[in-house]
Amino acid sequence: MKPLTVCAPLRVEASALRRGLRAASIPEAQVRVVRTGYGPARAAAWAADAVLADSGLAESGSADSGAADSGLAQSRLALSAPREIAVGGVGGALSADLRVGDVVVASRVSDGSVTVECPSAPLLAGELRRAGLRVTTGPVATVDRLVRQGEHAALAATGAIAVDMESAPLLTAAAGGPAVVVRAISDTPGHPIVSPRTVSGGITALRSLRQAAPALARWAAAVGPRQVLLASPRSFCAGVERAIEIVELALEQYGAPVYVRKQIVHNATVVADLERAGAIFVDELSEVPDGANVVFSAHGVSPDVREEAARRNLATVDATCPLVAKVHAEARRFASDGYLVALIGHAGHEEVEGTLGEAPASMALVESVADVAGLRPADSGKVAYLMQTTLAADEASSIVDAIADRFPAATGPGSDDICYATTNRQRAVRAIAAESDLVLVAGSANSSNSLRLVETAERVGTKAYLVDGPEDIQLDWLAGVSTVGIAAGASAPPAIVGQIVAALGGLGEVQTKDVVVATESVQFGLPKELRQRPAN
Ligand code: SF4
Repeated sequence: MKPLTVCAPLRVEASALRRGLRAASIPEAQVRVVRTGYGPARAAAWAADAVLADSGLAESGSADSGAADSGLAQSRLALSAPREIAVGGVGGALSADLRVGDVVVASRVSDGSVTVECPSAPLLAGELRRAGLRVTTGPVATVDRLVRQGEHAALAATGAIAVDMESAPLLTAAAGGPAVVVRAISDTPGHPIVSPRTVSGGITALRSLRQAAPALARWAAAVGPRQVLLASPRSFCAGVERAIEIVELALEQYGAPVYVRKQIVHNATVVADLERAGAIFVDELSEVPDGANVVFSAHGVSPDVREEAARRNLATVDATCPLVAKVHAEARRFASDGYLVALIGHAGHEEVEGTLGEAPASMALVESVADVAGLRPADSGKVAYLMQTTLAADEASSIVDAIADRFPAATGPGSDDICYATTNRQRAVRAIAAESDLVLVAGSANSSNSLRLVETAERVGTKAYLVDGPEDIQLDWLAGVSTVGIAAGASAPPAIVGQIVAALGGLGEVQTKDVVVATESVQFGLPKELRQRPAN
């Protein structure tokens, strides 16, 4: 295997990177740092010479061989085969959010004539954050001279967050192959490069660069072509789509802020998007001011919460999924018929708390087969069981079997409590896991149905991880992996799957295949409060 080439324009940058690699015991056979020279002309010359050397048409040129003839460079690059290239060095900040010592991972570099995309940037950024660095991902502009005070705003207006003098021409040597750029910030618009802080800014930036170096080796080990199997169905279910639409319509109809009790659905991206639109998420109604509008989340609430809202005259809209509401109705029916209701589910989950609240004196939570022994019905002929809607089907069925063994007359719900969306996503993840070296499940850590997808894939014998987005993917997971399965929990936005596929595409060619086990057409109506949109 050829080593990764890391291009460092300056001697001090090359030295910082080499020291970082040595400290992590990464040999030169794995990552080779080359000094490519200062400025865009030397960078272009190095790129053209590197391509030629690789193609065996000439000996490798030196970084200081002078400016490249651009026509010659272009024709050399046309001969070139894709290869992975990393650029590491210091750079200047254009965004006011960046500080000296921060690290910028380029999502794209451009010098105005050459633009190179770096789709794997979120993967490297996540890796650097886990290494303790402050990291921002965004476009980097390559310019042909030092940026002077007063020139930053015009460059920032192009969308770039940082600036350097070499990355765009250097990355032409990748010839469409995987490419990354790491720039540690040495100067900012407030503290430009020619200032009394130049030396201290440079030292701080080089320290960050040294710390960043080992992650480049992990990035290189993850590079390679892959097949991606997409579990289908995946992402939003009808209940989640309805709940999100309810908050959006409430904001439109009532104006911001609209309070939402608990996370509307268990997903960090969804919650952050709605917060930006004016939703305020609270844990309890006591945090909601009098007279405010409140939405109850998709997971449902207990009668106590409804009564508290009514007592306080709060205007409420209920986003409880109709399939959760069905379980509540079953709990009330069994309890009023004198049954002890065993609710199979996970302690502390909002849906479970809401359902238990329907008939607390007649219900008992059962989390495992062992819990069945603790059930104490007044009449052993009157035991019923219900389920949290997002359980793993195989896990729940072993508990149902234990209940039936102990109470042969035990009765269950009229139709399955584990909902169609949970069942379909578990079937889909099982199908991809059987064919994959690794399964990534898009979803947040507090999403029950997403966690069950991870467990389902693991039961098939495939390593599986829950990720909120591409930045959560550890590059080590991908080393040596040629087939990646991707699934998504019912609360994970479809866009996250697209972001993960795009990031993997930045490591090499990706071929995607949909593995469809079911098609879904379920839709739920909106609550009556929101059915009538206000006239404009
Ligand atoms: S996962 Fe099932 S129960 Fe939960 S919101 Fe979606 S459809 Fe409703």
